[in-house]
Amino acid sequence: MMNKISAVFGSHVFSDQDMRERLPKAVYKSLRATIDKGEPLDVSIADSVAAAMKEWAMELGATHYTHWFQPLTETTAEKHDSFVSTVGDGGVILQFTGKELIKAEPDASSFPSGGLRETCSARGYTAWDCTSPAFVKNTAEGTCILCIPAAFTSYTGESLDYKTPLLRSMDAINKEALKALKMFGNTTATKVTASVGPEQEYFLIDKDKFAQRTDLKMCGRTLFGSMPPKGQELDDQYFGAIKDKIAEYMTELNEELWKFGILAKTQHNEVAPAQHELAPIFSTTNVATDQNHLVMATMKKVAAKHNLECLLYEKPFAGVNGSGKHNNWSISTDDGENLIDPGKEPEKNLQFQFFLAAVLAAVDNNAELLRLSASSAGNDHRLGANEAPPAIISAYLGEQLEDIVNQIIEKGEATSSLKGKKYVSGASTLPTFTMDATDRNRTSPFAFTGNKFEFRMVGSTQSIAFPMMVLNTIVADQLKKMTEELEKADDFEAAVKKMVRELLTEHQRIIFNGNGYSDEWVAEAERRGLPNIKCMVDAVPYLATDKNVSIFEGLGVMNKAELQARADVMLENYGKKINIEALTMIEMANEEIIPAVMSYQAELAKGASEIKALGIEPTVQVSLLNTISEKLSELKQATVALEELVAKAADYEEDVQKWAKYYHDVVFVAFDAVRKPADELEKELPKGAWPFPTYEQLLFEQ
Ligand code: ADP
Ligand code: MG
Repeated sequence: MMNKISAVFGSHVFSDQDMRERLPKAVYKSLRATIDKGEPLDVSIADSVAAAMKEWAMELGATHYTHWFQPLTETTAEKHDSFVSTVGDGGVILQFTGKELIKAEPDASSFPSGGLRETCSARGYTAWDCTSPAFVKNTAEGTCILCIPAAFTSYTGESLDYKTPLLRSMDAINKEALKALKMFGNTTATKVTASVGPEQEYFLIDKDKFAQRTDLKMCGRTLFGSMPPKGQELDDQYFGAIKDKIAEYMTELNEELWKFGILAKTQHNEVAPAQHELAPIFSTTNVATDQNHLVMATMKKVAAKHNLECLLYEKPFAGVNGSGKHNNWSISTDDGENLIDPGKEPEKNLQFQFFLAAVLAAVDNNAELLRLSASSAGNDHRLGANEAPPAIISAYLGEQLEDIVNQIIEKGEATSSLKGKKYVSGASTLPTFTMDATDRNRTSPFAFTGNKFEFRMVGSTQSIAFPMMVLNTIVADQLKKMTEELEKADDFEAAVKKMVRELLTEHQRIIFNGNGYSDEWVAEAERRGLPNIKCMVDAVPYLATDKNVSIFEGLGVMNKAELQARADVMLENYGKKINIEALTMIEMANEEIIPAVMSYQAELAKGASEIKALGIEPTVQVSLLNTISEKLSELKQATVALEELVAKAADYEEDVQKWAKYYHDVVFVAFDAVRKPADELEKELPKGAWPFPTYEQLLFEQ
């Protein structure tokens, strides 16, 4: 096993070792300075890097290259160019120049821009991101391509992607955190990096059954389906033994990911039937984002080979837990110090207390932004819909840190800290060990987990670039405010202590260690004045408020136009998704469910009259026929009503906010009326008569 890993690990990424071996020393040094220290990229080295990359990629079989980028959609984009060029005399050469490595010009007009770019001025550029390693992948069509992670901007320099603002936010937190560290007397750190380990949840179902579900194919989630007799109530799936077929899938998935240098730290069954999770080893917020895209794409690709379908949607099944992507976030220095690590004596660690206060203040001051950053049509089914986690932003600290915070608030400083107790089982054969100082909490949207914060709101399909960009930015902004104030202080230590105490006192309201799913918490949060934004459409307008524009512009992360563009893209996307769901629902009702029910009705009626001809009263048949007819007409009426509501959406097209709101408040709400009679009919029809696989078949028969 170990041999296997070391043979393939990172084989398909242009790694540090590949660079060291293949690049001239000076080129390697210069490139590393950009990657490690954030120094401006020296474009004169590009030819040399391109030649080495091409040679390396061709050894793996690559014939094409592409700038691999992240437009404002949910997936990555690529346009393959061949290494082959023609030369004057009609011959061909294989080439890949520095110019081609650094910059490409895809036609930008087909990507969402939120009005940043008129269709008539289609120019957009992709630019090489040397901080995320290039890699080679095989496409489904069999092409082997060198992929160069890239940023995507318009002709006028505005970002049209998720990567550019993320990189800018990493610069911002680096700058502000370094400034703070210098004040604490740190003379060795030269860079602070924000890191994340995104835990990815997903469902695996049978591919053939998936293919029979129009809703899963069109929308990624089921729009119909009644719960089977067994759901997740027995709690037997979570961490349960992994089925052979799934184990084989996971093995191949791991091997494919190793090639990209991605190592799964843990993998296990999740709470819901057919649900699983993969947690990779963490990396910088930029590299982890790219890797997470590769994880999602590889999950789907490998599933197909095992006759499985991987569902990444946030809520594929009603009544069954949905999928999220827990983002484990921390900031650390290039000399190895994790600034979120309390250490053995957090009561004495003023620097840690300073960063803790900064994170809590940032989260409280910008709860709307964080909430927004995890919003999508799919995630609306989770956040605030009585599922993990609630839509209210709060932070869980655990007993140890909460105690420290309380001491600071009460006395101005902490003098002691709770330590982990000894584990005593009572059985002589079991080992004893020191337990963690803090228990876990599973319902908090923003939980401290030892030496990192876990932002749990993010949806499973979502790119983590946006939420990580927001988190980096708001913490950078808070650090900036704090260091600016401290610069004026005569007695640094006294000023920090005072500041930490004030901030913790002011933002203590965000700390909540209880059950985040309970109704009491909703009421309590309201008393504390914490925002509770119910849905994505209501969250989006916070993106470009004056307050937020000034935060993003102040740190050079995004300007007002870029923010507004993202807000528009989100709303547009929301309306489109609900529209697709509505049309799919109508199609399934009219073309699949209603005809199937009518056939069964006809069969029942025929049987009833045959029985009656024998002189027997067909009471069961007649009663069933009555029930079915009633529900069938309810279904037909609701479907017609939904069609009318969808048609009316055109009236709101002028204003994207109103249009999206209409889809949320009116169209989406009308889904229930269609679904209810359909799901009831499913229960009345015999097994095999329903036109597509049921929840029972999808969830329990892989
Ligand atoms: P836990 O035991 O708290 O669940 P794990 O060790 O299982 O944590 O890791 C969960 C995820 O968090 C993994 O993706 C891991 O790589 C990531 N992670 C661990 N430490 C850090 C850190 N300091 N910064 C960012 N992510 C981290
Ligand atoms: Mg989890």
